[in-house]
Amino acid sequence: MDQHAQVLIAGGGIIGSSIAAALVERGVRDVYVVDLDLHGNYASSELNAGGVRATWWQEVNIAACRDTVAFFQQHAEEFSFRQRGYLWLYDKRELFETAIERRRLQQRLGWNVEILTPNDVRQRFPHLDRGLDQLVGATFAPGDGLVNPNAVRRFYRERAEAGGARFLNRHYIEGVETVEREPGRRRVDVMHVVEVVKGDPADEARTIEKILTRHRIPPDETVAHPSIRTELVVNALGAWSPILSSKLGVRDVAVPVRRQIALVDVRERDLPPGVDLAQLGMVVDASCVYYHPEGPYILAGYSSPAQPSGYDFNYDGDSFFQEEIWPRLALRSSAFERCAHIRGWSGLYSVTPDRSGVVGAVPGFSNLIEAHSFTGRGVMQSRAVGVGVAELICSGRYETLDLSPLASGRFTQDPSTWVTEDLHI
Ligand SMILES: Cc1cc2nc3c(=O)[nH]c(=O)nc-3n(C[C@H](O)[C@H](O)[C@H](O)COP(=O)(O)OP(=O)(O)OC[C@H]3O[C@@H](n4cnc5c(N)ncnc54)[C@H](O)[C@@H]3O)c2cc1C
Repeated sequence: MDQHAQVLIAGGGIIGSSIAAALVERGVRDVYVVDLDLHGNYASSELNAGGVRATWWQEVNIAACRDTVAFFQQHAEEFSFRQRGYLWLYDKRELFETAIERRRLQQRLGWNVEILTPNDVRQRFPHLDRGLDQLVGATFAPGDGLVNPNAVRRFYRERAEAGGARFLNRHYIEGVETVEREPGRRRVDVMHVVEVVKGDPADEARTIEKILTRHRIPPDETVAHPSIRTELVVNALGAWSPILSSKLGVRDVAVPVRRQIALVDVRERDLPPGVDLAQLGMVVDASCVYYHPEGPYILAGYSSPAQPSGYDFNYDGDSFFQEEIWPRLALRSSAFERCAHIRGWSGLYSVTPDRSGVVGAVPGFSNLIEAHSFTGRGVMQSRAVGVGVAELICSGRYETLDLSPLASGRFTQDPSTWVTEDLHI
C-alpha cells in the first residue's frame, strides 16, 4: 500500500535535515526524508572542511551565512563551534581592492572584516614567515570560524525526528510520477523508491557506492519500497540534484566537481619558537590552499581549477599532498617545511555557473521546491536555508531572510542578474 507524506524531502544531508527540522518547528506533520546513505559515505555534509564564514561578496550569501553563524553560536558547545576567524591573504591588487570595496557591504550587513597589511599579518600570525613581500594585503573576519558539521547535521535530524519526521535510510528515489492538473503546471504526485537489501555491511556499502557513482540500480541488491504519495517535494539531493531534475524534466545547471582534503601532521618540535598552530582559525592563502587545525593535525584543502566534473570520489593520496598542498603551505610558512601526509579524502561540490546555491519553487510545478548546489557553502548556510524553505512551504513566502535571489530562474536571464560569487575556494 502507498505511504503518504505531507512533505517529502529527497536527501538527508545537512540541507535536507535542516529543512526537516525547520518544518517540524512550524508544526508540519508527515515529513519524510528519504536518503540512500544517511551514514554519509558520499554525502558532502560528511566530507567537508567545517569552515564557517560570512565573508562573502554577495548580499544573500553574506546574510544567509551570518544568520547560520548566529544559530551555531547559540549551540556553540554542541557543534564545537570555534569562532577564531578567517584570515584571507591576497597577492593580486585588483582582487584585494574588491575585497576592500565589498567590506562596506559586509559591515552594513553586520559582519566585521578587518583589513591587514602584510606587516600586520606577520605580527598577528607568526607562523606566516615566508613570501609575505609577495602579498598586497589580507582580510581577517573575527566572527568566522570552524564547526563540526556532523554534529550540526545530527542536531537537525534529532530535532526533526523529535517532532515526528521520518528518515528512511538506504532508500533511493528512482522514479517520479507527475500529473498535469492545469495547462503548463505540473504536480509531483508519487515517488518511487527502492530499498537496499539489508545484509552484510560491506555488501550494502558496495551497492550504495554503485548507485551513487554510477546511477545504476542492481535489481538483485534492492527491493521496491511502497510508493510514497506526497503533497510536496523538496529536491535537497546536493550533487545528485540533476539526476532527479532530469527525471522531472527540470532544467538543472549544477555540476558535481571533486574536491580533495588532506590531513597534515606538523610535529610541535619542528615549529619555530612562539608558533602555535592549534589556536588558528581558517587561513586561506593567496595560492588558494586553505587550512585549519583539526584535532592533532592540520586539515588542508585545495580546489584544482582544472578538475573535470563528474561523480569522482578517488583521493589522489601522496601525489595530491606532494604536488598541491605541501608546496603551497611551505611557500608561506617554515612551520610546514617538515610535515607529513597522514591521509585524506574527496567529496563533491555541486557547482552552478555563478557559484551560488539554488533555492526556491521550481517553475512549471505547483508542489516542487529545490534547495541544492551550495558549492563550498552548504554547512554555513544550512540554518538560513532550512528556515527559508520551511517558510516558503508554510506561508508561501520568505519571512526571516529573502532568499529569492537564489531562485533557479536567474539562469534563464542575463548573467548580470546572477549571484556571482568570486570569493570562492
Ligand atoms: C571537500 C569539501 C569541502 C567543503 N568545505 C565546506 C566548508 O568548509 N564549509 C561549508 O559550509 N561547506 C563546505 N563544503 C560544502 C558542503 O559540504 C555542502 O555544500 C553541503 O554538505 C551540501 O549538503 P547537502 O545536504 O545539499 O548534500 P549532501 O550532504 O551531499 O546530501 C545529499 C544526500 O542525497 C543522497 N542521495 C543522492 N541521490 C539520492 C536519491 N536518488 N535518493 C535518495 N537519496 C539520495 C545522498 O546519499 C546524500 O546523503 C565542502 C564540500 C566538500 C566536498
